[in-house]
Amino acid sequence: MTRDELVDKMIAFAKTIWSQFWQALPDEQRLRLGGMEEEIRAVSRSLEEGIWAIFAESLDKLAIELSGQCECGQRRERRSDSVEVALLGYRVRFPCTYLYCRACHRGTNPVRQWLGLEHGGVSLAFERALTDLTTRMTFGDAVDSMEEHHEQKVDRTKAERVTYHSNRQTQPASAVESPSQHSKD
Ligand SMILES: [Zn+2]
Repeated sequence: MTRDELVDKMIAFAKTIWSQFWQALPDEQRLRLGGMEEEIRAVSRSLEEGIWAIFAESLDKLAIELSGQCECGQRRERRSDSVEVALLGYRVRFPCTYLYCRACHRGTNPVRQWLGLEHGGVSLAFERALTDLTTRMTFGDAVDSMEEHHEQKVDRTKAERVTYHSNRQTQPASAVESPSQHSKD
């Protein structure tokens, strides 16, 4: 299914429930551009968060599918784990099951590897937006600006850490690797 097809299906469903939602809003909101701008933005934001959660579940499911069994043939033990990632505008908690072989004493956490969390639990877009600000203003002003423009509270210490980490990098952060590269972990 393509992106357009996915969105078409979602819109078709939204149409079936739209009037119940829209009619329940007060007139001063539902008949005004400003009111609906605020409302639709809030809906989009929640929707995006929900889609991120679906993606996160899919990743963990795939990790178990691909790495549930060790190279030695044993079924790997599973330990639930999760990690919170700062994306631009959101925080998403990713389940990332740790898979461990008792026979080989070797473990793997494919989701953490795919997400590239050696970058401190932030996405590249988040890192870019933040370092763009911290190179132009003080850390204090930068965290205020992140909150104002991206509705994202950032801890000042975290802002410093991400900036220093980013400055140390000579290469851009690597893209998410494809699952096939880890199928034999
Ligand atoms: Zn094994």
